[in-house]
Parts: sequence; C-alpha cells; structure tokens
Amino acid sequence: MILARTLWLLLAFACLVFGPVVFFYGLSWGLAAVIVCLLLMLCWHLLHLRQLMGWLEGPLDNPLPRGRGVWEIAFAGLHRRVRVRLDQQQSLSETLKRFMRAFEALPDGVIAYDRHRHIDWINERAETHFALSAATDRGQALTNLIRHPDFVSYLDSGSYVEPLIYRGGRVDGMTLMLQIIPYGNDQNLLVSRDISQIERTETMRRDFIANVSHELKTPLTVVAGFSEMLSDDYEAYGEAEIKHYLALICEQNARMKRLIEDLLTLSALESGGLAQNEERVEMAPTLNSILAEVRALSAGRHQITLTVETPSVLGGCANELRSAFSNLAGNAVRYTPPGGRIDLIWREYQGFGEFVVADSGIGIAAQHLPRLTERFYRVDRSRSRETGGTGLGLAIVKHVLTRHHATLEIESEPGKGSRFTARFPGRCFRD
Ligand code: ADP
Repeated sequence: MILARTLWLLLAFACLVFGPVVFFYGLSWGLAAVIVCLLLMLCWHLLHLRQLMGWLEGPLDNPLPRGRGVWEIAFAGLHRRVRVRLDQQQSLSETLKRFMRAFEALPDGVIAYDRHRHIDWINERAETHFALSAATDRGQALTNLIRHPDFVSYLDSGSYVEPLIYRGGRVDGMTLMLQIIPYGNDQNLLVSRDISQIERTETMRRDFIANVSHELKTPLTVVAGFSEMLSDDYEAYGEAEIKHYLALICEQNARMKRLIEDLLTLSALESGGLAQNEERVEMAPTLNSILAEVRALSAGRHQITLTVETPSVLGGCANELRSAFSNLAGNAVRYTPPGGRIDLIWREYQGFGEFVVADSGIGIAAQHLPRLTERFYRVDRSRSRETGGTGLGLAIVKHVLTRHHATLEIESEPGKGSRFTARFPGRCFRD
C-alpha cells in the first residue's frame, strides 16, 4: 500500500514538475527542481519522524500524532497495534486484580516468595499471622523476618509433604499450620492456617476426659475396695462395720450418679442451640419449690428467705431454668457455714428480670471469678467434694442462661459472702 502510494507520487512528480521544467527551461533547471523537491520531501518526512520520536518517548497512553500521506497509513497501523496492546494490558491487569482479590479473600495466609526466599507478595491474612506488613516487607528475605528455628529448619529441609505446626511465632498464643507449596520456576507459596481455636478445643477435650476420669477414679476405688474387702472375708466383720462400709459404698455411688447426671445434662445443653422448649415458666411457684428444696438441703442450719417482687412469667424450658436456679441456691447452702443467711430474690429491674441469690458464706477471691463457670473449676476442691459438688453446677447454669439469652453476674468477697445474679432480657418475658 505504502509502496504503491510512493510510486504514484513519483509518477505525479515526473509528470507535473520534472517534465514541464525540462521542457521549458532545459535539463539543468529540471535537475535543480528535482533537488528542491527532494529536499522539501525530506523535510516533510523528518517532520513526521520527529513527531513519531516524540510520541515514542512519551507515556504509553499519549495520543498518536496525525500524519499525512504515507505517514497517515503508518500512524494508523501503529495506532491499531497500540490499541490492541492497551486492551490486552487492561484485560491482563483485570485478571491479575481478580486473582489478587481471590487471594485476599482466602481464609488462609499466603506468602509468595522466590528462589532467594525474597517475598513477592503477602495477603492480609498472612500479615496478621506473621505480624508482617505487605507495604514494608515485600522484597525482604523471609528468613530475616521469620527467624524461628522450627520454621527455618522446615524451610531448609526441602521436604514439605507434612505441614509444620508452628507455635511461638510473633503473635502471642497463635498456633499456625504451615505448608510450603513449590510452583512454577523455583517459586513457592507459604500457606498458613490459624489452628489456635482447634488446638484450644483439643486441649479442652483432653482436659475434660482427664477430669472426668479423675472424678470417677476416687469413688470407683472406694466402691471397688470395700466391695472386694467384704466379698473376700464377709464373716470377719461385725454388723456395725459392714453397715458402715455399705454406707460408704452408697455415698460414693450417689456421687458417681450425680456426676453422670450432671455430665448428661451438660452434654444435652451443649448439643442444643437456643432453648426450643417455649414453655410458660411462672417465677412464683418455681421459686417457692426451690425454696422448699434448699430448706431441706440446709436442714435448718441457715436462715433462708424468698422474695418475689413481681410474679413474672418467663418463656423457656422449665426444667432447664429450674435446674439453673436450684444449682445457684444449692451452692449458697453448700458454701455458707451454719448460722448464715441466704436470700433468694426475683425482681424486675430496668427492663430485665433478675434472679438474685445472696449469701453470707465463705465468698470467693476475685482471681477465681472469671473461671467459675468452667467445667470442673473449683476454688476449694476438697470442700466442693465434701459437700457433694461435681464441679459442673455453674457450667450448667451458664449454659442454661446462654440458651435463654440471659447472663450471669457474680459479685463476691472472701469471708463476707457472694451474690449471683441471673439477668433475663425483656424478650424472655411472657404475658
Ligand atoms: P461445685 O460442684 O464444686 O460446687 P460449681 O460449678 O457449682 O461446682 O461451682 C464452682 C465453684 O465455685 C465451687 O467449687 C466453689 O468453689 C465456687 N462457688 C460456687 N458458688 C459459691 C458460693 N455461693 N459461695 C462460694 N463459692 C462458691
């Protein structure tokens, strides 16, 4: 196309300039005219070339200069190529952005690093896992930033089939599961997953099994010991002795029964969501029956009162609420020395329904308060056992209250007494 145009131009020039000048003024004027024309053409081309150079040196999105003649064709071709390249670039950068967004959305941390272990890229989750900053740490050597010996030797091992469980990193209390995935040309991905919660749950499960085994071991040993003793040589013991041993066996059996009942209650509470059983639970009769129960437990050793300020009705599971209230009131009896005072109060206060159990008992030191509702947590293990405790009472209370959208507040002072308040929000009330 350009060649054809140039040939046409030369032909036109010969016909319009060179021919007439030679014809009228002779050959030498003709040649002079050719030279002038060639010089003019050269200038014209140099002018376009300068425009092209200016465009090439400018930014990529600079508009192409407008040309004439063959330059118009050349510029149009260039323009087309630039547009195609820009489109390709834009679609590539959009794909890249989509990948970046996908990496950012991953629940795992991802660090991409090269053969020299220099960080290419970090997602937000990895920044949190390793306390790094993409802005300042990109390009840094991974082992300069994460120097833990376990991590460095895992990296050096070159064998990444098994993940590394990484504790004691820069973030306190966080346990990570790390896996290195080699890809491409000596590139690697370091993938990190926060398994702190899984590990905590696993520790809790192990502790729970150890606690249950420990709780069952003592009564089982007593029962097994006395049963064997009696069955081996029954005649060797007098009637009074036998009665005493049988009473001890019954006592330990009762303890195991209580423990198993509490464990079953707790397990049922934990496997359910919110309380499904939307019964009408009338506070006045419920608390009156609990008063009778704790008076029987106290056997006249304490002064126990019940005040129902408002005869409210709660919506929920009657059995669960009864068990929670009875646990709180029972604890007051068990941890209040004889002669002490126990007040059970139901009231409506600032839109909430409150069941308060206040005692003048032994009280609890402040450092124990946050842990009281943990399973098997006791301030004084032997006192709890002596009074028939399983260490699960407050854990059951906490679960029941949570299932009823309620909270438990504990105030206590050693030697002065305790005040447990179960607080129910307005939505728990029924007409
Ligand atoms: P336990 O069966 O041991 O009583 P709980 O879960 O009911 O288990 O209570 C946990 C611990 O909280 C008890 O071991 C006891 O140390 C303490 N505690 C609970 N209620 C009272 C209270 N009213 N006064 C003093 N200490 C209490």
